[in-house]
Amino acid sequence: MPPVHALRVSNPFFEGANTIYVIESDPLTLIDTGVATQIAYDRLIAQFEENDLRIADVGRIILTHKHIDHIGNAWRIQEQTGAEVLIHESELKSIENVDEQGDRFITLLNRRFEVWDVPSRQYADNKQMPPWEIKPTRGSALQDGQKIDVGDEVLQVIHTPGHTMGSICLLSERHLFSGDHVLEKISPNVGGGDIRQDGLLRHFLQSLQRVQDLASSHLVMPGHGQPFENVTQRCIDLARHHEERLLKTCEVLSDRTMSVYEVASELFGELDDFHVFLGCAEANAHLEYLVEEGLVEKDENRYRLGAQTS
Ligand SMILES: [Zn+2]
Ligand SMILES: [Zn+2]
Repeated sequence: MPPVHALRVSNPFFEGANTIYVIESDPLTLIDTGVATQIAYDRLIAQFEENDLRIADVGRIILTHKHIDHIGNAWRIQEQTGAEVLIHESELKSIENVDEQGDRFITLLNRRFEVWDVPSRQYADNKQMPPWEIKPTRGSALQDGQKIDVGDEVLQVIHTPGHTMGSICLLSERHLFSGDHVLEKISPNVGGGDIRQDGLLRHFLQSLQRVQDLASSHLVMPGHGQPFENVTQRCIDLARHHEERLLKTCEVLSDRTMSVYEVASELFGELDDFHVFLGCAEANAHLEYLVEEGLVEKDENRYRLGAQTS
């Protein structure tokens, strides 16, 4: 494997700074690009210089998934260098047809808040999006199993839907670049990352199993935080965390009929700001899974335990 540099660029989200990887291949390959702000970009450039690297040498950018803190500066770098930008085929549209002002996201969010029965006072303040500067990027589609040459090694694309439907990991002989699919310290949000999609939790659990089988002895290079080992244990812990939350969701329902917002408030306590969205989306993903399993019944956006569970 050619030398790999880990650069860190902060963002306003709770996962903490993004870790961006530069692989000294020919051309120079970047994995993710940080959040879409000039400050983040400047920070990235400064770290290139500290590592004796030149942004002008970047010829290829691989994006692990469509979130703003991963795709954010791909357009700037492409504008300067003409680098090719690669993303899973199912998320290609997210970089080509970007939501520049965040309007589409806000409309979608407000529609979900109605369905989840979130009191309007809880999201009245949510209309302000952070000041992203994002423009369309010309992208190329990646498919599961595709191999990307980096010097004397290849990165293999592993499609790991769950956190988003087009999330990928990249597997080399000894490394697993995991994006937000597996993080060491926090449990990646499942449900809030891709609210147009159904079945995220089921996909996520299957993708954990896949990574565990493929990369048990690899060094994990996550999209946030430091490299870590023993991905198998981490995947087991993450799966257990969701199993416990599924059980807790059943306990919360008990003999009641509840909205997504009510379940989220019981699971996570009082929610404010963006956590209203994240908490409800996570509760929704768990309720949806329990409905698929036949353990919970859904009627007009309210949930109760199924006949055989209660
Ligand atoms: Zn993400
Ligand atoms: Zn992230």
